[in-house]
Amino acid sequence: MRFVTSIADLGPALKALRKAKKSVGFVPTMGALHAGHLSLIRSSRAEMDVTAVSVFVNPTQFGPAEDFDAYPRPLDHDRAMCEKEGADLLFAPPVAEMYPGGYATYVLQERYTESFEGEIRTGHFHGVCTVCAKLFNLVQPNTAYFGQKDYQQSVVVRRMARDMNFDLTIRVCPTVREPDGLAMSSRNVYLSPEQRRQATALRRALDKAEAMFESGERRAQPLVAAMERVIHEAPAAKVDYIAVVNPDSLREIRRIESEAAVLLAVRLGKTRLIDNTRLVVK
Ligand code: AMP
Repeated sequence: MRFVTSIADLGPALKALRKAKKSVGFVPTMGALHAGHLSLIRSSRAEMDVTAVSVFVNPTQFGPAEDFDAYPRPLDHDRAMCEKEGADLLFAPPVAEMYPGGYATYVLQERYTESFEGEIRTGHFHGVCTVCAKLFNLVQPNTAYFGQKDYQQSVVVRRMARDMNFDLTIRVCPTVREPDGLAMSSRNVYLSPEQRRQATALRRALDKAEAMFESGERRAQPLVAAMERVIHEAPAAKVDYIAVVNPDSLREIRRIESEAAVLLAVRLGKTRLIDNTRLVVK
């Protein structure tokens, strides 16, 4: 595996890899890699000739009161994991390489970024769109792999890639979970043992919505109310939002005619957890 930290070295490294092989899969991450990230690397390895991974804790997607400094950065561990999974290249640039002095250009997306994570984390998706656009330009992948865990992010990035004419496919892969159902996240390490126990409420709330939907409930309001009740069984949990939305537009819907995404964000102490599920009328 090639390990690269500068933009100057990235081009030649990719060129050398591309020479013998054709398609490039790309897995952008912020590191602290877990089984969720590794599943994306595995999907890319299965489908593409070359797999490039990036580890970059992107400062522009963190708000001033957020955990940029505290965010875990176990780069040696991440490098070993990428090697073990058979990635061909790991790009792990320092911040000054991506945002050198005088940096002034951002990708601002409207509409899809205005609600949910974008409303609570002001500016978050501008940072996400900017860094993804930069990374897509640098790596020039044929397919970029994202997790369903960050559902709104996958919609926002797909829209950005289309709007900015990136010639690539966005592939969204299923959420990988702990045995008790909690979606894997680099931020789960912030949870105290008690908060970690209560964090299973998110998956249980989604299970409840899925069960009601399977029994024929199509109205959003009873689904949301039932999920709220499940979350409130966890005394430390505070709901940021629960919403039933159109899976493409992210607009809230009252009734599920064909498909919906159910989005959920919950605070446990200072830690925010997000999760979601898709509901499809058969
Ligand atoms: P992050 O390092 O948190 O920015 O995540 C990098 C990529 O991994 C994003 O596309 C996430 O959606 C994806 N990801 C994070 N957690 C999971 C998970 N539990 N299952 C699947 N994909 C995930």
